[in-house]
Amino acid sequence: MSKPVLEVAEVVRRCGGAFLNAYGATWSLAQRTVLHALVLCRTSALGGHLERCDNPSCGYQRPAYNSCRNRHCPKCQSLAKARWIAARQQQLLPVVYFHVVFTLPEAIARLALQNKTVVYHLLFQTVAATLHSIAADPKHLGAQLVKRQYVCKQLTIERRDENSNGTP
Ligand SMILES: [Zn+2]
Repeated sequence: MSKPVLEVAEVVRRCGGAFLNAYGATWSLAQRTVLHALVLCRTSALGGHLERCDNPSCGYQRPAYNSCRNRHCPKCQSLAKARWIAARQQQLLPVVYFHVVFTLPEAIARLALQNKTVVYHLLFQTVAATLHSIAADPKHLGAQLVKRQYVCKQLTIERRDENSNGTP
């Protein structure tokens, strides 16, 4: 797997201070801890170890920094994510799938950061009702949707900058 041109950790290193100055008041200690873990992951701050080739005739070794093992860290979770995607692809039915994105207005998105359980529950209920209503309409699908629990887990709540042009 090749290294990405720009890593999330580098973005946080460069812009994390300014971001926290602007939005830090709305962030919990747990969220700040994740940000800190991303910055430290695979740096000398977490120490290191020697990686050895599994082939006994090779014996190649190289030094490597330790991982943060935070479940939100893209470096630590990239292999787990690839395995998860491969497993989900095995479950796909041979039908057409649609990717639907629901976006909260900025004022409600700010409320969601402070009241996640309530706002996300309302959002998922509203999304499900909207999708069922549109799908049932003969002008669209004229069909009844099959409800799956994991559909809601795949929804992404994005906080958009007030100057955002609406593109993700
Ligand atoms: Zn990590």
